[in-house]
Amino acid sequence: NAKLYYDDNADLRWLTGKTVAVIGYGSQGHAHALNLRESGVNVIIGIRPGRSRDRANEQGFQTMDVKDAAQAADVIQILTPDHLQGPLYEECIKPGLKPGKALAFAHGFAIRFKQIIPPNDVDVFMVAPKAPGHLVRRLYVEGQGTPALVAVEQDATGHALDIALAYAKGIGATRAGVIQTTFAEETETDLFGEQTVLCGGVSQLIQAGFETLVEAGYQPEIAYFETLHELKLIVDLIYEGGMGAMWYSVSDTAEYGGLSVGPRIVTQETKQEMARVLKDIQDGTFAERWMAENAKGRPEFNRMRRDAKEHPVESVGRDLRSMMSWLKPSVVEEDGIQKE
Ligand code: NDP
Ligand code: MG
Ligand code: MG
Repeated sequence: NAKLYYDDNADLRWLTGKTVAVIGYGSQGHAHALNLRESGVNVIIGIRPGRSRDRANEQGFQTMDVKDAAQAADVIQILTPDHLQGPLYEECIKPGLKPGKALAFAHGFAIRFKQIIPPNDVDVFMVAPKAPGHLVRRLYVEGQGTPALVAVEQDATGHALDIALAYAKGIGATRAGVIQTTFAEETETDLFGEQTVLCGGVSQLIQAGFETLVEAGYQPEIAYFETLHELKLIVDLIYEGGMGAMWYSVSDTAEYGGLSVGPRIVTQETKQEMARVLKDIQDGTFAERWMAENAKGRPEFNRMRRDAKEHPVESVGRDLRSMMSWLKPSVVEEDGIQKE
């Protein structure tokens, strides 16, 4: 059974008198830093000069180069992009480590795939919120929390879990519940989920459905509503009450059609491919491919990004969404936060 922790199981005093360096001030970084500060934790920001540093300064944080932050802090939380963490660690963080300090992560990639190999005398833990940073921040402000995963890879002090749980409490995660896992389990399941179901699977399913309708001569606007827009309503029902709540709410026709046709769309072959994808993740093939793609300057990634952006479902969607007065602009557009 999964081990769960709530507010009562975590004690912020494990961070009393300590300095936490949040490295990076992007999606997760700004949320962790602001939430921790409001929970009474002493936070500094390690960040290179640029937009992120300017934002952190505007929000009243003491900012400094990553090297200086790593020197100054007891807990070093690395919230820079995963594929860049290896070189940043070697150059700027490792020199600042001392026995008894803690190295923290919000995702296990760099540790699991040995981009970072920490010395034995530091704690290594993870607090991984299960939501984008903007939500981690918004829920905290509203007095709620974001569920998170916690894991300890190295327990040099004998209190790595206590410190990790204090950190989780500081960002508001124990208000919602924190589940204990390992770096390997978190990393492998996170990559698998985003590749096969959440990001990869869903986007391909939408595109294929949209294309099939449009190629058959139906209006793209109608296709957009039937294959993309309504997805949110369905997902909300599943999120709140499982598949059962969704089947209960849709018509009997939709339920019969969905139950009988679904397995023709996601087939045994799909599941076999999922198993191959999982194997590529587990044996490091995917991580190697991703790091090599970055080393080459991302030629394939950039091409796929462009293709995805230029897909008709996107232009139709932009036009339709601009007419939906009840839709707030997406947080991403609102904050102008651009992923590199
Ligand atoms: P972002 O891309 O939003 O932010 C990255 C930050 O790192 C930026 O502030 C950027 O600053 C800074 N940065 C990049 N390179 C350097 C460098 N060489 N030196 C100093 N600062 C640098 O990252 P995320 O918040 O999305 O991801 C951070 C971590 O959180 C990752 O491990 C990710 O897997 C994990 N995570 C992310 C989630 C999400 O939903 N986004 C959810 C859960 C975990 P600059 O403006 O200068 O580029
Ligand atoms: Mg992920
Ligand atoms: Mg319908």
